[in-house]
Amino acid sequence: MSRRTKIYEGKAKILYEGPEPGTLIQYFKDDATAFNAEKKGTINGKGVINNRISEHVFTRLAHIGIPTHFIRRLNMREQLIRQVDIIPLEVVVRNVAAGSISKRLGIEEGEPLPHTLIEYYYKDDALGDPLVAEEHIACFNWCTNEEMHDISSMAIRINDFMCGMFAAIDIRLVDFKLEFGRLYDGDYSRVILADEISPDGCRLWDMNTGEKLDKDRFRRDLGGEEEAYREVARRLGLLNGEDNGPGEVFDLSHARSRLRGPPPLKK
Ligand code: 5GP
Repeated sequence: MSRRTKIYEGKAKILYEGPEPGTLIQYFKDDATAFNAEKKGTINGKGVINNRISEHVFTRLAHIGIPTHFIRRLNMREQLIRQVDIIPLEVVVRNVAAGSISKRLGIEEGEPLPHTLIEYYYKDDALGDPLVAEEHIACFNWCTNEEMHDISSMAIRINDFMCGMFAAIDIRLVDFKLEFGRLYDGDYSRVILADEISPDGCRLWDMNTGEKLDKDRFRRDLGGEEEAYREVARRLGLLNGEDNGPGEVFDLSHARSRLRGPPPLKK
């Protein structure tokens, strides 16, 4: 029997009751899903890497004044977080066209956008998380105008910070997804950053080779997802030991050849 109370189980994470009121434990799984869970699989070690990457990013965001749910990492797969009421929106920030915007509007993947775009998707698995306008958000009262203002200004600051953080390690931040929650203090609440920031919810392209270092490797059957996630962690300086060596060259061709199987025998 489990000694902890499970509060919620999502596709990539489990939330357990925390040690104190108002806290939760966020457990990172290796499970990966795509296309509204039509495609399922596992990426070995993903939970461990995402826990570390998300800890790192949330800690650095806190340093620039972004309020977040993160309290501290507990172990390889778990972190202690503040309990929030999740606002039912996926906030997507885009710098470069890729994925659904390319499909929807016929813009070639890799085309830089004239300016950063923020999009909102209504969080509802049964509906496939549809794109919504700010008018829908106001009309159905998913959040207030004041909360929308806080969310959009935090999203822009987070994007500015993360573009620089990734550019410094030769990674192009193409787009990413954020989630926010309400933290209550008596009758008042404020919006803070929640969920996670990891290669599961970001598009990260190597600046020199264009190699994808994110979940698109899984979504698009490219192979090498474990290596790609580890590479992001390594460049951020989060892997202990030999992996942090500056001379290491990232080579996904090894992973790709494993995916394809051995080369054909010469006649
Ligand atoms: P797109 O709308 O192009 O599919 O996704 C835009 C960005 O948001 C990508 O970086 C993608 O990883 C992220 N994203 C959108 N929806 C989800 C989601 O439901 N889960 C995760 N992990 N990321 C998402």
